Amino acid sequence: MFNKRTKIKELLSAEITGQEAIVMGWVRTFRNNQFIALNDGSCNQNLQVVASLGLLDDETLKRITTGASLKVIGELVPSLGKGQSVELKATSIEILGDCDPEKYPLQLKNRPSLEYLREIAHLRFRTNTFGAVFRIRHSLAYAVHKFFNDKGFVYLHTPIITSSDAEGAGEMFRVTTLPFDNAPRNEDGNINFKEDFFGKSTNLTVSGQLEGELAAMALSDIYTFGPTFRAENSNTTRHLAEFWMIEPEMAFYDIEDNMNLAEEFIKYIIQYAMDNNRDDLEFLAQRLLDEEKQLPQDKRSELGLIEKLEFVVSNAFERITYTEAINILLESPTYKKKKFKYEVQWGIDLQSEHERYLVEKHFKKPVIVTGYPAAIKAFYMRMNEDGNTVAAMDILAPGIGEIVGGSQREERLDKLIERMNKMHVPVDEMQWYLDTRRFGSVPHAGFGLGFERMVQFVTGMTNIRDVIPFARTPKNCEF
Ligand code: ATP
Ligand code: MN
Repeated sequence: MFNKRTKIKELLSAEITGQEAIVMGWVRTFRNNQFIALNDGSCNQNLQVVASLGLLDDETLKRITTGASLKVIGELVPSLGKGQSVELKATSIEILGDCDPEKYPLQLKNRPSLEYLREIAHLRFRTNTFGAVFRIRHSLAYAVHKFFNDKGFVYLHTPIITSSDAEGAGEMFRVTTLPFDNAPRNEDGNINFKEDFFGKSTNLTVSGQLEGELAAMALSDIYTFGPTFRAENSNTTRHLAEFWMIEPEMAFYDIEDNMNLAEEFIKYIIQYAMDNNRDDLEFLAQRLLDEEKQLPQDKRSELGLIEKLEFVVSNAFERITYTEAINILLESPTYKKKKFKYEVQWGIDLQSEHERYLVEKHFKKPVIVTGYPAAIKAFYMRMNEDGNTVAAMDILAPGIGEIVGGSQREERLDKLIERMNKMHVPVDEMQWYLDTRRFGSVPHAGFGLGFERMVQFVTGMTNIRDVIPFARTPKNCEF
């Protein structure tokens, strides 16, 4: 019975009339005991269902409330109302699930806040905003796979549990089956991980890159797209403890090739959402406009959401070196008026306020920064000729800050070991990785794109918690 149903998106886009259809969905509103706005999540728009007077008894009419689920059979007819071309003239309405209007939290009159909706995650999918966000998130994920597949990349599943603790990308969550009130200990009092499940200390992955490099050294081009975990205690609008990362790794690529790929990739997935999620983007653009009305003029975005995306796909990203970035910051009015919270001088790790100055105030577009000081970057990044900077590249996006972090990797064994020693990376435990540099090493490069930050950029949602179905952040792991 259920597979005969047609999705509302299909009905509205086909604009077919004079035909019978079965639809199922949830009531958004019910007006004049006659007009039901039905939504089934397939698109932002509702289908207008008309229950002619006399079709239903009073008992049934009372049960058609916001949130109730219905099965409707009817005839598709041209709509007289504005905003839609077809509506469904019901011949039968069956209530699949009642919804007590006294208790249902999603009522039109008291528009729930985004924060409140995070607490009722099972219902937040029913709102227009989150329907749009998660349909776009889906499209972006699909576009990621399509982009790499069409270029001949291999989708590689890197492990979620790892024993490699050398990436240095962030704080890690330990994975263990040892009892923590009575853990086995060595003579020196330290915990004896030989007794643990894997016979060694293990963690949730912070990045699949090192494993990805192994595969790229044979398959040429690979990408990962999977969950990533960082126990960083930063309660910001762009950090999650569990997020999804896309990490392509390419053999025979230098930093320039890497930048070109990253820029093409970002533009491709944005364009894909613009081509396939127009209604949802328009809805979110309006939402953002409404939200920003409460802000003072100078805090509002200069471009609407869609104009911003169009601008990004049709203009080259700015490319500058770290040294140039520092000089721009040192010459900025913000610096001269001592308005940066953190110090600015060659050698610092760029803080979010610095990144945002560069993209939002100075260049007003995405910026790729290269040539960072070796001292503040990971051990695997390739040392430049100057012996002082590495072939790193971060892509900074307006409103988000860092969206991509990448580099050309150090393919020269001696230089790599030198760096590892200097940065206290345990060389002994990393022989499996160093082997790639021993047996047919090649220049290679890759980057990591935080998927949620990308979804934030495309949807215009300010808080990263609002672009993932179930957010995990410090002191918060509901559902
Ligand atoms: P940040 O300085 O913003 O914390 P990072 O330098 O730790 O970023 P990388 O280790 O380079 O980031 O990770 C690659 C990408 O993963 C980042 O560019 C970002 O898009 C994303 N990312 C990193 N940490 C998080 C997080 N906690 N939540 C969501 N996305 C993240
Ligand atoms: Mn970080």
